[in-house]
Amino acid sequence: MDIGEIDEEFDTIERCLGVLASGSLDRITEHEWLHLVDRYEKLTRLAFAAQCLPLARLAEAGPEAFGGERIKTVIANRLRLTPGQVGHRLDHTADLTPRLSFTGEDLPPVLEHTAAAEQRGLIGREHVTVIREFFHHLPAAVDHQQRDNAEKHLATLSLTMRPDEVKANAKRIAAHLNPDGEFTEQDRARKRSFRMGAQGVDKMRTGSFCVTPEVGAYLETIFAKLAAPGMCNPDDTASTLNGVPDPDAARRDRRTPTQRCHDAFAALCREALASGRLGSHRGVPVTIIATATIRDLQEHTGVATTAGGSLLPIRDLITMAGHSRHYLAIFDDHDGRPLYLGRAKRLATADQRLLLCATDRGCTFPGCSMPASMSDVHHLREWADGGTTDITNLTLVCPTHHQLAGRGPHRWRTTKSPGGRTRWTPPHHLDPNRRPRTNSYHHPEESPMAPAAQPP
Ligand SMILES: [Zn+2]
Repeated sequence: MDIGEIDEEFDTIERCLGVLASGSLDRITEHEWLHLVDRYEKLTRLAFAAQCLPLARLAEAGPEAFGGERIKTVIANRLRLTPGQVGHRLDHTADLTPRLSFTGEDLPPVLEHTAAAEQRGLIGREHVTVIREFFHHLPAAVDHQQRDNAEKHLATLSLTMRPDEVKANAKRIAAHLNPDGEFTEQDRARKRSFRMGAQGVDKMRTGSFCVTPEVGAYLETIFAKLAAPGMCNPDDTASTLNGVPDPDAARRDRRTPTQRCHDAFAALCREALASGRLGSHRGVPVTIIATATIRDLQEHTGVATTAGGSLLPIRDLITMAGHSRHYLAIFDDHDGRPLYLGRAKRLATADQRLLLCATDRGCTFPGCSMPASMSDVHHLREWADGGTTDITNLTLVCPTHHQLAGRGPHRWRTTKSPGGRTRWTPPHHLDPNRRPRTNSYHHPEESPMAPAAQPP
């Protein structure tokens, strides 16, 4: 079938589903409703299976196919999914579609039996997730034949069982295949992770970690000392970081064990930053860079923005300034003019970067959420075109979007708006009208929904 014929088939399916979704269905019994939802579910599963091959083909294409943009981002923007969702689907697809060997021979999918059941619409995405999860935790020492048998068995169970039931069975099989719970160095290394989630509305973050025995031993040793009652307590001035905790401070300490571990970890990070041994990152010493307005600082209210993209209550910022020398850019409330740039050492290039951290706050490409600490300094007017390194000609762009800027018909052009925002003009193939756009992600206070600035 060519793309025109496929599109026609899609039109038929969409028309049919549209009628069913909006139309009135009369005289249907409960048993018939159940029959209908069952059929819809099979259709959903088939649709999911049908998406695998196109996704696999797209994953093979290099970024050149879409003007240098990563395929994951292209799909996420087109389908309006998060990059995380797309990543999950691509990983999923990689295990369920035929592969090529190093020598160019066709190989069956990694999860051959699961893929076969999925293609017939007999099992759902949740079943596949359970089976993939089972293999993720299986030690490398389990041989090919045992793996294949286990996969076949789990795929067969999925034909008649719910995902939670398959999961319970998978657990039994894992215990059977690895009765002594033996895992190698590689098994453990594969699973290591440290994930910090996005800030919530209360500005707190949650996350998860899976650490190797080595890191576990480090933390255990450090916590034994720094997380003891009376140590590193932010609410007690008699609390200490070095030496033995004051017995009275220890008695007064009402923190929970997990709160004490948190405070110990904070003390550890503070020490690392204050030591100066972390060197520099993108031309600026590794330390906290924060932006605030003079009004918020004077009134001890509001929030500062860090170069890493965090929102930091002004009170916390003032406490932190007592511990270490951090960078601070202060802005006028009315015209956004920079008033003061605090720094430990004068560095011309670092100053420019600091100012960009404060004005742009992150990548200026439309819709990008990359913070300043992960962005490059970009010349609006390229060096080659006679552009200078004056601050008015500089802006922040993350490495991915940096590649999209420049000369040539397929590139985005960058200019400054009268208000000082960086404007991106798309190439003709993306927008024939070439309307320039700006990124409002890092400037929520400028959105129409934000409360208006108070007069002084
Ligand atoms: Zn970007």
